[in-house]
Amino acid sequence: MNVYDGWRIAAMLTHHGLTQTDNIPDADIIILNTCAVRAKATDKVFSALGRIRRAKKPTALFGIVGCVAREAGSDAFRRIPDLNFVLGPQSYHKLPQILENPDARLLNIDLGGLEKFDQLPQMEKSPRVAYIPIQEGCNHCCTYCIVPYTRGREISRSFESVMAETLHASKSGALEICFLGQNVNGYKYTDENGKTYRLSDLIRETAKMPEIMRIRFTSSYPTEMTDDLIEMFATEPKLLPFLNMPIQSGSQSVLTRMNRPYSLELYCDIVRKLKQARPDLQISSDFIVGFPGETDSDFEQTMKIAQQIKYINSYSFKYSPRPHTAAALMPDQIPENVKADRLARLDAYLNEVQRDFNTSCIDKTFECLLEGPDKTGNHLIYRTPFMQQCIVPATPDAPALAQIEITAANKASLRGKIVSK
Ligand code: SAH
Repeated sequence: MNVYDGWRIAAMLTHHGLTQTDNIPDADIIILNTCAVRAKATDKVFSALGRIRRAKKPTALFGIVGCVAREAGSDAFRRIPDLNFVLGPQSYHKLPQILENPDARLLNIDLGGLEKFDQLPQMEKSPRVAYIPIQEGCNHCCTYCIVPYTRGREISRSFESVMAETLHASKSGALEICFLGQNVNGYKYTDENGKTYRLSDLIRETAKMPEIMRIRFTSSYPTEMTDDLIEMFATEPKLLPFLNMPIQSGSQSVLTRMNRPYSLELYCDIVRKLKQARPDLQISSDFIVGFPGETDSDFEQTMKIAQQIKYINSYSFKYSPRPHTAAALMPDQIPENVKADRLARLDAYLNEVQRDFNTSCIDKTFECLLEGPDKTGNHLIYRTPFMQQCIVPATPDAPALAQIEITAANKASLRGKIVSK
């Protein structure tokens, strides 16, 4: 979602006649696009602003957009008095105002809902993988999560506006569509005639676009995985066989205190139905360890569910208390060293499964999408249908979509050779 916001901001400023640079001393305006999900990300923002302030031209404008801007609000100006703008994740389309009036401080952390989508200029050229947000905010209110505060209540974009953006992306270079939302599979839009559209409708309609070869979506809430969506994995070959469906914890009592009120049986049942629909489907998860009150036995249950589901790729985090959340006020906050030990054990296991899955891919052939050259320029990086990185020797006429035979694997990536277009 942050990558998407970054693209839209870049496109908007290009529209205003600016060009992009990575070199801070050259820049006339410097924008930090920020994430507030964990404290570490937030802390980094203010130290980065200090560095930017020292490196930039004296006349250059600088500021923050995104969730830290929303969380810090006017306090950001107190901490950095010469900061020029602070714009929340739903008001960054107002950024050009600072170009018109550079001497005034620009502060807007309103939750404007879907307003930005109507106001942002269209992107001229789409990246090969086009991210398309289909909703803003989240209604789940997990007790650890700051998102309902920073991005507000959940609103789904209209079917027409999502499809218009998707069609435009398909006509301007996109080969893969990734639908985005904090609760993406909860997408629900009812038009003026009373017809309701779900994520499955967006997928079905997108699959009809001849340019689009691959479709995926992220992130899914387990109990929003309705039968119409599960069915898509059986019927729609363009939908990739890979799904991020965070479980967060394997302990029923931790899940309850997280306000994620699904049973482990139900979660496993959904996984079973998904694999029935698409036998090669692989799943990834997010995990939080050291949630307030998590006992050793709770954590063992997380290890157990990880062993049962065998997620091929996961994100795992130490619980981080966030402002405006219920869990930050819960008793029994877990000491840092216990969190670190649990994370290390979980990560070691998740890495082992990932390496095993990668190894099981050797000698198989997958249709992969070109991401671009690696840092050296000697290799190209492709993505498999399971989002693994696959590295092949660079050739000048390498196709954007290629059949690649996997020749080697390690924990982080695969190596392969192009066998045909
Ligand atoms: N709705 C999104 C949430 C984005 S945050 C999603 O489901 O992916 C991404 C991940 O960050 C969450 O799934 C969760 O595992 C983690 N996370 C969120 N708040 C956290 C916190 N306070 N401490 C540690 N990890 C957190």
